[in-house]
Parts: sequence; C-alpha cells; structure tokens
Amino acid sequence: MPIQVLSQDVAAKIAAGEMIERPASVVKELLENAIDAGATDIRIEIREGGIRLIRIVDDGCGIPADETETAFLRHATSKLHTIEDLDRILTLGFRGEALASVGAVSQVTLLTRTALEDVGSRLRLEAGILVQHGGQGGPVGTSVTVENLFYNVPARRKFLRSEATEAAHILTLVTRYALAWPDLRFSLTRDGRLTFQSTGSSRMSDVILKLYELDTVRQLVEFGREIPGEDTAEMTAPVSPGKVAAWGYTSLPSLTRADRSHITVFVNRRLVQDRLLSRAILDAYHGLLTSGRYPLTILQLRVDPADVDVNVHPTKAEIRFRHPQDAFTAVQKAMRQALRETSPVRSLDAMPQSPSAPVPVQSQLSWPGRPHFSPGRLALELQRTSDAPAHSAVDEGGPGPSSSDNFGRDAVDHDAPPRNLPPLRVIGQLDQTYIIAEGPGGLYLIDQHTAHERVLYERFRSEQLRQGVTQQQLLTPFTVELAPVHAAALTDRVDTVSMLGFELEPFGDETLLVRTIPAMLNPNEVTDTLTDLASRLTSAMGGDDLFEESLITVVCHSAVRAGKSLTYEEMRDLIRQLEQTSLPHTCPHGRPIFLHLSTDRLAHAFGRT
Ligand code: ADP
Ligand code: MG
Repeated sequence: MPIQVLSQDVAAKIAAGEMIERPASVVKELLENAIDAGATDIRIEIREGGIRLIRIVDDGCGIPADETETAFLRHATSKLHTIEDLDRILTLGFRGEALASVGAVSQVTLLTRTALEDVGSRLRLEAGILVQHGGQGGPVGTSVTVENLFYNVPARRKFLRSEATEAAHILTLVTRYALAWPDLRFSLTRDGRLTFQSTGSSRMSDVILKLYELDTVRQLVEFGREIPGEDTAEMTAPVSPGKVAAWGYTSLPSLTRADRSHITVFVNRRLVQDRLLSRAILDAYHGLLTSGRYPLTILQLRVDPADVDVNVHPTKAEIRFRHPQDAFTAVQKAMRQALRETSPVRSLDAMPQSPSAPVPVQSQLSWPGRPHFSPGRLALELQRTSDAPAHSAVDEGGPGPSSSDNFGRDAVDHDAPPRNLPPLRVIGQLDQTYIIAEGPGGLYLIDQHTAHERVLYERFRSEQLRQGVTQQQLLTPFTVELAPVHAAALTDRVDTVSMLGFELEPFGDETLLVRTIPAMLNPNEVTDTLTDLASRLTSAMGGDDLFEESLITVVCHSAVRAGKSLTYEEMRDLIRQLEQTSLPHTCPHGRPIFLHLSTDRLAHAFGRT
C-alpha cells in the first residue's frame, strides 16, 4: 500500500479510540469538564449501561454561544494557552480532545448557557458532523447528552461488555469522583432509578459512609492528616515545591481484598493509576498481610503542580513525578505510622454464633488510658493521652487475684508514648497453645505461636537494619538431603538464604552442607526449615517478595509451637517482648495474635446485666 495521509474521519476515530474505550470513559471526560467549569451540582443519567445514553447536567459556568462549535474541535480548550501553562496544570482537562473524541463516535447534544447570556445554545453532532445549531433557553450551566456510543465504530462496540458491567464501571467512577470532590453534589440515575448520591458536605468520610458497610468503615484508619477538620482544605492546601503530602483512609490488616481494585489514588484530586504509589501503599503493609491480599485504600496526594507531569497519556490517568522517591516515602510513612498506632485486637464479643461465619473485628479496643473511637469520625488514630501507664504492659504481680482497677493505678506520665498493648497479667495457659491473661476490660487469649512469630520477625528486621543478622555456628556442620530441585533452589538463591543467616554449601546434587544457621532457629528444625524454604522458593512467582517470604518461613519454624507448655515466666517474657514490637496485634502472615472477651460480655452471659 502506498503511504497516504488518513482521511479526517479515520484519523478522528483512531484518536477517539485512544481516549474513549467504553461508556465510563465518556462519563469521566464529561465529569471532568463539569468540575473544571466550577459546577457544584452534577447529575449523571445513564441508560442501558451508558451505551444507549449518557447525560451529564451541571450548574457550572456554561459555554458562550460563539464558542460552542469550537469546543468540539480537536485541540480546542479554554484551559491552556501557552506551552508554559503545561508545566502547572490546575484543571482536570487541558488537551482539548474530549468533546471532539466523544463527538466523533456518537450522537451528541449540547445545551449550555452562561450567566451573561439570556438565551443559551443547542448543538447536535452526529459522528462529529454538526447537524443542528440554534438558540435555546435553559438554566446557567451545561448539559451534554451522548447517545448510541460507537454506533459508527462497530468494531469497538463489539468489545463492550454487558449493560450491567458497563453500568458498574460508571458507578465505580462516579463514586471515586465523589470521594475526591466531596464538596460537590453528585447523583447517578440508572435507567430511571437513582443509584448513588453524595451530599456535597465537603467531608470525604460522608462519602465513605455511603459507599461501604459500617463494619468496613470501622476497619478504616485515617492517615497523614495535616489540617484538622476540613477535608477539602486537606486536599487542596498548597504544598511547597518538592514537598508531597499524603492523606486518606486505609484498611486495618483485618480487612483485605483479593485484588488491587479497592486501592484508589488521587493526585491533586485527579484520579490516577500509578505503580509507584501502589507499591508505596503495599510497602506500608509490609509484614502485615498474607500474600495475595490487598488493602482498601483511598489516597489523596498533594504535590506542587509543577512537580508532576499529567500530560503522559490521552486519558490523563498516568502521571510522572519529578521526585518519585519523595512521593513514595510520603505515602509509605504516613500509612505505616497510622497502621502501627491502630492495629486492632480481635474481639470475641463480636464473634458470630456460627463457627463457619467470618469473624468481624472490633475496630479498636479501649482500655483505661486509651482514647475511645468515635464511629462518626472515622479517625481511628490514637492520640497521646495523659493517663497512659508508662511502665511495662505486663503486670509484675504474678498469678493470683487482682482487680482490673489495678490497671489504672500507675503513675501518670505525660510524655509516655502511645502504647499498642493494654497492660496484661498472665493467668495461665490453655491447651498448651494459648496464654490466658487478664487486662483492662476483660479476658485476653494470646496465641503463643503467632505472638512469638511477631517478636522474632521484628527482632530479625531490626538486627538486619543495625549490623546484620546474628548467626550461630554449628559445632559440626551437618548435611541435609533434599530433592534435587529443592537443593538447586537454595543454591541458586544463595544471597537470600545467606541474608537470613544460613551458610550452605552444595555437597552433591541432593545434599547441602550447613555451616551456620540463623541465631533464632533451633538446630533441630534446620532440615524442616530448609525443606520448607526450598519449596517456597521453587513455587515463588515473579513479583513475590522472596526475602520476605523466606524470612516468614524461618520465623515460623523458629517460633514456639502450639502444644508446648510454657512456664509462667516464659509467658510473661513473651508478652513483654511482644509489647516492644511495633505491630503486636497480627503475626507476619496477617493472622491475629489476640482474642478479647470483655467483662461486659461475661456479665451479660451470666445474667448480671
Ligand atoms: P478540555 O477539557 O481538555 O479543555 P474538552 O474537549 O473536554 O477539552 O472541552 C473543550 C472546552 O469546552 C473546554 O476547554 C471548556 O472550555 C468547554 N467545556 C466543555 N465542557 C464544559 C462544561 N461542562 N461547562 C463549561 N465549559 C465546558
Ligand atoms: Mg475535558
């Protein structure tokens, strides 16, 4: 074929294809236009999954009559004039492509009026061709109706999914915009039924409460707030060049999802997809989640507009940071801190009667000295308190009768750091597996194995940060026999294995010579640990954090097992060590360490209340 310039029609469809993939893409562009126009009330109506009709009505500034036709031309925008403007984009749109693209692949009707005009305009385009243009009265603002999307691009139309799926994409999108713009009122009507509405209260938490069940909401923690009270101020306050501010809500490790689709990221209130920020979010959960589980996160990042390039892709969902590392660190740190301060204790009180039903988790436990969670505010963050006991969480008194009043008796220390554990007094051991302890507000059962895992895991991590891992030299090196594929997996990853404290040497195809082992590991466990480690390394998928997985394996083998009887001193020591950890409530696999049965619940069960 000779080289030819494409006809305008083909070129327009190709360009539209980059931006308009499905009905939700149309909704996104039109919503962004309404927001840029300063609307406070945005009504979205869809029919048949948006394929038959999408209408967005806003009360924004409107388009002057003499500019309406221009608005549909490619690269026609009122938001950008010079190339320098591109370095500081403050609006959601700027490429001047959306109306042209939407127009090229559907039948569009525009109704609009500005406050300066008495009569507004009405325009109709079919496949990008103007078929009607006249005056029409109406309120100030703009209404864009898009009908029969892709009616002239059958190839694209074929790729659309069911109406229900397309409608679901639209609903997700609208709710996300409502989160980022809680000061605006959004409503979505699907086939004549109102399916979502936000109030425009300016509080993101109000939108969250509309979107999620109360039980989910209770498991969200707020992170990174800098400006008290006002959510929109938190999202829009200017940041100095080079600075990044991360704020939002994220789930406690007790609430996870099977994929990343519940991670929503906004940068300067723009909905984006960014791998770096996703990684920062997951990094904040390091050692807290089972692999393959993801948090529910709503992240609002503020950066100086000059420090972020939004002009990377026609859909504007990809961005580039001038200082990616700063963005990463801001997110990771703010989230990590919040998670550290608010890890929950599982509550037996909330346990359903049926043993097979999932166990809901109490969002936060309170004890004397710990402030209470107020459900309306979502903010679960732990503040400093004046009467938090400053000494060890473990009561020194030993077994014997005690009243829970004792827990409040300690000296007041105004500088005590917020504590993660209530003061606990060991009573005994159950089934050689659980430590029974008394604490403020009731009874605690502590899983000795997961508790010890958490202690060992954090000890190892801090040794690693300081000077390297402590090893123990075996008096006589011994040999371990493994399947050849497992032996090879260990010798191939000698770096990972030696970072854990193992010194191994191949000794034939199936045999390894072990010279040193991690200090925490019992020498009797070496063979089992290496076998387990090898099979984990063999089955590891690309992208898994191999070192993390390996460390968790070693920690699991090193921790005291269920079924081992412990002395009172051993139990007390374990709890004291647990108290020193930063995240004492879940083991590195994400399993709970504590269960709590409150005295209220006991009183109720015994008919005392
Ligand atoms: P962009 O948003 O990138 O500028 P669009 O093609 O989406 O490009 O829109 C072109 C222009 O039409 C905008 O710059 C704006 O001036 C005007 N416009 C579009 N939608 C609206 C609206 N809802 N209210 C007011 N003006 C609008
Ligand atoms: Mg636009």
